[in-house]
Amino acid sequence: MTLANTAVKAGILGYPRIGANRELKFISEAYFRNELSQEEFSQKAAAVRKDNLAFLKNADLNIIPALDFSLYDSILDLILALGFIPERFRKLNLEGLELYFAMARGYQKDGRNAVALSLKKWFGTNYHYLVPEFDDGVTPEVNAGFLTEALKEASEGGIAVRPVLPGPFTFAKLTRITGTRDAAELEESVTAVYRELLLTLNREAGITEFTALEPSLSMDLSAADIAMFRRMHERLLRDLPLKVYLGTSYGDIRDVMKDIPDMGYAGLWLDLSGNNRNRDLLREFSFKPGFELGLGVVSGQNIWKNNYDESLEIVREIQKDHPETCIVITASASLLHVPVSLQNEKTLSPEKLKHMAFAAEKTAELRELRDILNGSAAPEISERNRDLFRAPRFAADAELQSRVAGLKESDFARKPARKERLALQDQVFKFPPLPATTIGSFPQTAEVRALRKKFRLGEITRESYDAEIRKLIAACIREQENTGLDVLVHGEFERNDMVEFFGRKLEGYIFTDNGWVQSYGTRCVKPPVIWGSIRRTAPLTTDISSYAASLSEKPVKGMLTGPITILNWSFPAADIPAASSVMELALAIRDEVLDLEKAGIRIIQIDEAALREKLPLRREDQEAYLTLAVNAFRLTASGVKPETQIHTHMCYSEFGEILKSIDAMDADVISFEASRSNLTLLRELRDAGFETRVGPGVYDIHSPRIPSVAEFKSTIKRILEILPREQVWINPDCGLKTRGNAEVWPCLNNMMAAVREIRAELEEKNA
Ligand code: GLN
Ligand code: ZN
Repeated sequence: MTLANTAVKAGILGYPRIGANRELKFISEAYFRNELSQEEFSQKAAAVRKDNLAFLKNADLNIIPALDFSLYDSILDLILALGFIPERFRKLNLEGLELYFAMARGYQKDGRNAVALSLKKWFGTNYHYLVPEFDDGVTPEVNAGFLTEALKEASEGGIAVRPVLPGPFTFAKLTRITGTRDAAELEESVTAVYRELLLTLNREAGITEFTALEPSLSMDLSAADIAMFRRMHERLLRDLPLKVYLGTSYGDIRDVMKDIPDMGYAGLWLDLSGNNRNRDLLREFSFKPGFELGLGVVSGQNIWKNNYDESLEIVREIQKDHPETCIVITASASLLHVPVSLQNEKTLSPEKLKHMAFAAEKTAELRELRDILNGSAAPEISERNRDLFRAPRFAADAELQSRVAGLKESDFARKPARKERLALQDQVFKFPPLPATTIGSFPQTAEVRALRKKFRLGEITRESYDAEIRKLIAACIREQENTGLDVLVHGEFERNDMVEFFGRKLEGYIFTDNGWVQSYGTRCVKPPVIWGSIRRTAPLTTDISSYAASLSEKPVKGMLTGPITILNWSFPAADIPAASSVMELALAIRDEVLDLEKAGIRIIQIDEAALREKLPLRREDQEAYLTLAVNAFRLTASGVKPETQIHTHMCYSEFGEILKSIDAMDADVISFEASRSNLTLLRELRDAGFETRVGPGVYDIHSPRIPSVAEFKSTIKRILEILPREQVWINPDCGLKTRGNAEVWPCLNNMMAAVREIRAELEEKNA
């Protein structure tokens, strides 16, 4: 019997929007600075979009997405297209692009004012979306002009596309209800207007196919969620004059797989990278003849070549189980999360580059896999790929491996217990009540950035660069002393980035020239790449820390980035377990901690800014991640003397369910971001019996506002109503590097004035 499979296809859910050289970022920024008119900006942006489409057409993919391109964010596109305009923006009476960017970036002009929609992490990736709001001003209505235009543009280019947008379920799940209407009304509104949107696109742009991207299906879903998903999609699909494909990513869809086959979709695209349950789920269910199965065997999130033999084995098994489906080879997610193309990499050797694949190269992989399956690929294609995986990619560091293997339980335990340690530290440091500090960085002014650039370009020598950095440090320490802060920092002027700085100094890291990935809107990041075993070969920060410490009688903190944060903000190796890289990083940081202590540094801060970010989406996977993160942190710090104080910092306030783990990191002091949820968090800390001393940020460094002394006082008093005075530190909520000196020093002066007044009040009470 011959299998009834039709020819295998290849396609993707999305392509990076930033352009091969981050064109979109630069033209957007020029537009924001009023250097481009709206018209010029729109034209230039359309050129990036057309280039993408032309590339994909040339890449010989069978299914090319459209509407995946966005000027800022796809959820924001949908907010505009569905008319989810909150009252504060509606009142501005703006239209089109102006309204769009007002929601993205906030608005402040002619006395009119609106705070931007908030940004949130997108499903465990480093991408952020804009959070839709459902307030009483929202009156959903279809506004599809900009989408139909983009679709027409594609058809003028002669390119057949399948439009894709985040689906209604995900949109509703991500929406924050802020008005008086409830979740049922939200669901009703989204469903109705979303269906209307598809009908409009069908009528006005002639679309006959559509992919609804529903990444929320990869989260733990309750029975109510599942019912909601079914309700929304059944209504969406009923008698719709177009074929709808369900796109999923970022994990498996265990909670709804059973529902999918009879819901009326034309196809389902699945993440089949890694070890999620989708493979098993596919064994359990069957689909109608002709149903399209998108098999995401190529990772949409890593930057490494795919192992064809492994992928083909997965695909062939699925083909066997589902002989009557149409198979599409795809990536596990939109290629949005990987850099555009290796063509722009001039520095890395061919030996390294041959193992890597960015978005452009991944489309080639999809095509090759398809051709192999269809029997039309040249034999060398498989051979060349097999060669890549035959020999070890790098020489593992045996000594390091045995050091990791030899770690004992005692290496993860600091002695004595925290209570005892803190009592000893109190005697040594003799801080006043409510000790005050900052998170580490001070403004990276134009001057600081120009200095680093000159050094990078070889225009100044290492000596004069170091001398200039030292001047900056000395001035910063003097200013901090003037404000009356109790624990000082050196200011991090020598660091462009808290991860790359360490990566550059560690063995095992490599760096791309142009490996940019969109983080949000115009912001892109260029994560360093973990190539092999990570090892510290020399001290990383002791020279600068000792210098800074020599300038003051007050303690100056040594500043390090923690292992989980370094890992989470790097591109990990695909063939090295994350746990190995993390432990190697932890050992490197541990050695640095001990060297700092030896150099006389008495307080060391190990930032775990990104710990919460990569908390797995599924509850059942969270425990293992947290255990690893906690152990890695404990390893970095467990070797120090009892009187050396260990601080850490985290960049978010949604601790909630992971408070126990954070306490288990066994730091002495932790600072974290404050936000509107400050009060909730403080209560959670109290109720959890949190033992680490805490500095809940007393002001938002993301805003240029300067809070008054009175405002600082009331913030601090609110904290003291909930947490015992002995437990509390005072600090801003994050590093100050993105702010200007004109705001930072008045802020810190006001903060310290408030601290002094409250200390005096406390003393009076005691007297
Ligand atoms: N120490 C770092 C700084 O102050 C921490 C940055 C962060 O939390 N993202 O910049
Ligand atoms: Zn932070």
